[in-house]
Amino acid sequence: MQTVSPIFKLPKHLYIETTSRCNLRCRGCILHRGSWELQRDLSLKELIMICDQLPKLERVALHGIGEPILNKELPNMIRYLKERKAFVFFNSNGILLDEICQNQLIDTGLDELRISLDASSPAGYKTMRNSDKFNLIVSNVQAFSERIKSLHASHPKLSLWYLGTRENISELPGFVRLAAALGITEVYLQRLVYFQDHEGYGLARPEKTLMDSNPAVAELIHESYEIAKRSGVQFNASGLRNPLESLQTGIRNPLPWKRCYRPTTLMYITANGNVLPCCISPFSTSDYDSIILGNVFDNSLAEIWSGHRYRAFRKKRKTENPPKCCKGCGILWSL
Ligand code: SF4
Ligand code: SF4
Repeated sequence: MQTVSPIFKLPKHLYIETTSRCNLRCRGCILHRGSWELQRDLSLKELIMICDQLPKLERVALHGIGEPILNKELPNMIRYLKERKAFVFFNSNGILLDEICQNQLIDTGLDELRISLDASSPAGYKTMRNSDKFNLIVSNVQAFSERIKSLHASHPKLSLWYLGTRENISELPGFVRLAAALGITEVYLQRLVYFQDHEGYGLARPEKTLMDSNPAVAELIHESYEIAKRSGVQFNASGLRNPLESLQTGIRNPLPWKRCYRPTTLMYITANGNVLPCCISPFSTSDYDSIILGNVFDNSLAEIWSGHRYRAFRKKRKTENPPKCCKGCGILWSL
C-alpha cells in the first residue's frame, strides 16, 4: 500500500488574519512602516471556504497583522470554529474590548484572548505603541477579568503580552504587578523580531533588542520572576518557556531554523488570501514576495501545501542557507 508523506497531510493548525486593518500603528509593527498588503477584512464566507478544506482542525489563531475585533464577523467566525471543535484564540490590543464585546466573546466560546500591552504605564505605552489608550485598555481588561469571574465562565483564558525591547524593559516588573492586580494569571515576554536583511524601522531594529547578555536585563527578568512567583502569575516566553533564555543568543543552536516545525504543521493565511509559512516571517525579511507560498483565492489549500513553492521553502530551511525570513530564527527562538 502506498504511504503518504507526513508533510503532505494537511495542517491541523491555522493562523488566519481576520483583518489587515488596525486602530494602532505600534512602533514595533510592520504597520508603523506601511502595510505589506491591501487593507481588508476576511469575510465569514471566506473563512468557512478555507476551513472546510481541512477535515481536521485543532487550533486556530484568528490574528495576523491587524486588530481582529475590527472585523464585525469575528463572533460568528469563532462560533463556526467552535462548532468544528477547534481551540480558538487571538491577540488583541484591547482598545475595543468594551462590555458588548466582552459578552459576545464569552458567548462565542472563545478559548483564549491575549492582550498585547508592552508597558505598565501610559508613558511606556506611548513609547511602544504611540497611543494614549493605556488606561482605557487596562480598564477594559480589568472589567473583562471581573466579568469572567462573576459569571463563573470557564473561558476565555486571559493573558497579557509584552514585547521586550531596550525601550521598555525597565517596566517589566511593574507589568507583572499590573497583571496580578488585574487578576490575570499568565504573562508572556516576546522577543523583538526585525528584518534580517534591511536596516529596519521604528523599534524593529537590532539595536533595540535585548539579545545580548546584559546583567541589568537579566536582573529585571529575575525580579519579574520573583514578583510573578509571589503573586501566583505564570511568567513565560513565547516559543520557549524561559524568558531569559528566549532573549539570549549565546545559548542558541547554531542552525535553529532547521528544527522549525511550522512549515510542516501550520499555515498562516492573510486577509488577502496569501499563504505564509508562519506569523514571524512578515517581520523578519523585507522581501515579502519571498514568503508568499500561494493564495487561497487562486488555489486549494491542498494544492498550495503540496505545491512547488512550499516544497522549495521546506527544503531550503533544512540547509545552511535558509530562506531569508528564517535566518537567525527557529523552533524555540523566533529571532
Ligand atoms: S502590533 Fe498589533 S495593535 Fe499594534 S499596529 Fe500592529 S497589528 Fe496593530
Ligand atoms: S524559522 Fe522562523 S521564519 Fe522560518 S518558518 Fe520557522 S518560524 Fe518562520
